[in-house]
Amino acid sequence: MYVAMVSAECAPVAKAGGLGDFIHGLSRELVLRGHRVEVLLPKYDSLRRDLIEGLAPLHPGIPVPFFDEVIPCRVDQGRVEGVDCLFIDPHSSHAFFERGRIYGEGDDDVRFALFCRAVLEFLAQSGRRPDILHCHDWQTGLVPVLLWEAFDGLRSGPGAAATSVVYTLHNLGHQGWVGEAVLRQVGLSPHRLLTPDRLQDPGNPRCVNLMKGGIVFSSFVTTVSPRYAWEVQHTEQGMGLQGLLRQYNDKFAGVLNGIDDRIWNPLSDRHLARTYGRDTLADKAQNTAALRRRLGLQEASKPILCVVSRLDRQKGVELIRHGIDHALGHGCQVVVLGSASEPAVAEDFRRLQERLAPSPDAHLELAYDEELAHEIYGGADMILIPSVYEPCGLTQLIAMKYGVVPIVRRVGGLADTVFDANYSDRPFSERNGYTFDDLTSTAQDHAMDRAIGLWYQHPDYFRQLRLNGMTADHSWGARAGRYLDIYHHLRRP
Ligand code: ADP
Repeated sequence: MYVAMVSAECAPVAKAGGLGDFIHGLSRELVLRGHRVEVLLPKYDSLRRDLIEGLAPLHPGIPVPFFDEVIPCRVDQGRVEGVDCLFIDPHSSHAFFERGRIYGEGDDDVRFALFCRAVLEFLAQSGRRPDILHCHDWQTGLVPVLLWEAFDGLRSGPGAAATSVVYTLHNLGHQGWVGEAVLRQVGLSPHRLLTPDRLQDPGNPRCVNLMKGGIVFSSFVTTVSPRYAWEVQHTEQGMGLQGLLRQYNDKFAGVLNGIDDRIWNPLSDRHLARTYGRDTLADKAQNTAALRRRLGLQEASKPILCVVSRLDRQKGVELIRHGIDHALGHGCQVVVLGSASEPAVAEDFRRLQERLAPSPDAHLELAYDEELAHEIYGGADMILIPSVYEPCGLTQLIAMKYGVVPIVRRVGGLADTVFDANYSDRPFSERNGYTFDDLTSTAQDHAMDRAIGLWYQHPDYFRQLRLNGMTADHSWGARAGRYLDIYHHLRRP
């Protein structure tokens, strides 16, 4: 099977969050199973080029129509940890992807609309006919629209079968709400498309909703956990698209994300002071000691509670701040690795960092640091994830793999993967953490107190919880089959 992944991110070269991990993890698993995969992404100036093998031009300049201009887009090819990636590089005074970062620009809608058109021009002009185009999130919502409205399904000739599109929703909080000019810019007709059954936003008739376009025009739509699939159809988590997702229920499913256990594996992680596994769990203590040394925490007989997160409102930043103080007041050490894009949130955490700087039990690192993340998972005992909503969440899966016990709000993928030590109806061997329901500090305190109490009073049970978390298989090896089933189901005859 030939699968073209179209995405704004691919770990580790262009990663802002879990989307990047998903793209690389699933792609690599498909390659290992003998499928042909190409990941298409923009050639950001912020790419980690040192991690791309054999980066070289593949096509000198695909002409891509854009308003009344034609923008030549070079396509480069390189290999990222076993996965072929194609980088689209528009040559234009707009410097679309030369902004020092992936997202957060005022013209993100225009940047990614051009990317979508360029992807299809490239596929068509280079004669590529993927069996499956797998697109992700609002940035690529125009790919299935363009495929049908402007490229006739990429058919190789009259009567030939069309390419099928799978569209995965990673976060309904960002749907690509844009003006109709974006459609005109890539050669689409607002008159034809700005209708209730196509791209018109359900809440604002003058607004184009790119994610809605992706949903309507794709052959199959997935989201990243079964619980989130239900939430977006039946609660406000759908952020206005509840009705549409119920209408398309027959082509919609929740498929739990996996993690790449070649990258996230305490048995082989080269960032750890000492590797360990289920049978050598005692060796984890050396990583705890190393983490304390690296971050200047005192050596103490206390559990380390960590947070590894984008510090975004979605992640429950108020509860995270409250949880840090609560943990410090209840016998824990605390390590936070977080990056905030919203200035007010960044400022709150900077102040907290200043206040806690003298503490020998706390360290806040307000940055994005992949290597430190590995060391934290290696050394920590508990992880706090009080998300307002969480489509899947990878940090709890990674943490469990490293024997870190998650304390999570029971929403989305967190509810599908973390089972409460005391209250879950699962057998004890499947219980692996602590959960709470209400978005309140009282509910969170109660879950944290149960976890901390177990660490102090029943270390053997706590150890068993760690082992339960380490046992469950959340690798892409175990999960990719679901996507392959969907691809096979859609594949052209
Ligand atoms: P989201 O995609 O919403 O950010 P996920 O839990 O799905 O959340 O994925 C987060 C990924 O990003 C994990 O791999 C996590 O380790 C990583 N991560 C989050 N924040 C940081 C940070 N500040 N530094 C390094 N890695 C981070």
